[in-house]
Amino acid sequence: MQILDFIRGRIIRKFIDLRSLSARQVPYDEIIRIELLVAMCLVAVLFGSIYLVIGIFFKLSFLIILNYLLFFSTVIPFVLFLIKKGNYNQAKLIMMVIGSVFMFVKAASLGRESGMNLAMLIIIFATFAFYSIEDYKYILLSLAITSTLIVILETTDYKLLGNDTTTNLYEYEFNYITTILFCILFFYVILRVNQFINLKLTGLNNKLLSKNNSLKKLNEELDSFVYRTSHDMRAPLTSLMGLVTLIKNEKDPDSIQELVRMQENCINKLDLHIQQIIQLSRNLKTDLITQPIQFESILNDIFEELSFFEQAGAMKKTIRINTPFYLYSDPYRIKTILNNLISNSFKYYRKEAEQPSMDIDISSTKKSTIILIKDNGIGIPTEYIEHVFDMFYRASNQSTGSGLGLYIVKEMVEKLNGTITVKSRVNSFTQFLIEIPNTTSTI
Ligand code: ATP
Ligand code: MG
Repeated sequence: MQILDFIRGRIIRKFIDLRSLSARQVPYDEIIRIELLVAMCLVAVLFGSIYLVIGIFFKLSFLIILNYLLFFSTVIPFVLFLIKKGNYNQAKLIMMVIGSVFMFVKAASLGRESGMNLAMLIIIFATFAFYSIEDYKYILLSLAITSTLIVILETTDYKLLGNDTTTNLYEYEFNYITTILFCILFFYVILRVNQFINLKLTGLNNKLLSKNNSLKKLNEELDSFVYRTSHDMRAPLTSLMGLVTLIKNEKDPDSIQELVRMQENCINKLDLHIQQIIQLSRNLKTDLITQPIQFESILNDIFEELSFFEQAGAMKKTIRINTPFYLYSDPYRIKTILNNLISNSFKYYRKEAEQPSMDIDISSTKKSTIILIKDNGIGIPTEYIEHVFDMFYRASNQSTGSGLGLYIVKEMVEKLNGTITVKSRVNSFTQFLIEIPNTTSTI
């Protein structure tokens, strides 16, 4: 098959504009058919020239010589020109229709003994090799033309245009051999097309299987998500109902005040959980908005929103923002990411620490922005660290949340085409490092 690849690469493809084929996304099976058309033109010229030289020596009739010369000098160059220009359907149609007429003229002047009745079959086989079954209209047209011509030839005994028997000495053998060779070529092409389509189908099937598997996984995740979320939402509601009953029976105003404060906590928890679900769904559904990110104002908003945390005021915050290049990214997602990380630093502070502190370092280059958030809190044990970005994962009993925060952070960082890494040591520090590409430099 190497010789075939060599012929395809070195000769046939010279007549095809591969760039326009790939620009139009022509499927590979169609490319094989176009190559066949080129091969047919070249083989016809090669065989035809040999035939003509021998024919002229045997005093072939003027009509047949003219027929060949016209076919070689007009039809074949025109078909090759159309292929080069990318008009493949026109090229095929012209080859089929004028090719039939060419064969007809030759057959109608050579007599049945010449074997031209056999050679007419070439056109019928070629039809099936040239067109895919979707082009059945072309197939029907070509078959109609060829069978009409064959009927005319049969009824006139292949002598409609004369009875040139000068070439009968070798004509039958010539037609016999060319018919066999062309048939081999056609069946080879049909098999190759079939093989390609089979491969494509297997590929598609595999893709479908893996899509199916990932859908199954997603479905399972969704199941557990619904289960966990409804459970997490029911917990504060049950506490709220309990507190309502207590308040109803309580007379002491101070105790009622305390119970109401506890109710407020439950409501905040519920609200936080609902907010997290909204964040997740917004991240999945909404497209990226790119705007220059104003880190100062985003951080101010976050600290204000998180001021209800016990540690919010007492914690020492060192903020360094060095962004000579604006980060063009999605403000909503950036804010949600920072909010989750900062609230974690507030939540997981170390009571024994002399001075709970948090460092936020933001720096930018033309290509990306790096955000570093570090605290001196309780830290994360090494064995849990690889799971902290998992859905519903909590690594500490100091956590009162649902373990969704870092999952949301990771999902959003990925949506922004960024990366996030975490380093931590128990009772020492936790550090998150995020790198987000600047969208304008990649546009
Ligand atoms: P949620 O954020 O949904 O309210 P959560 O804070 O428990 O709940 P994540 O933010 O996903 O969930 O964090 C997962 C776990 O990682 C936490 O339970 C905590 O154990 C650990 N963790 C996260 N950030 C820190 C941090 N800054 N210091 C120490 N531990 C942390
Ligand atoms: Mg959290």
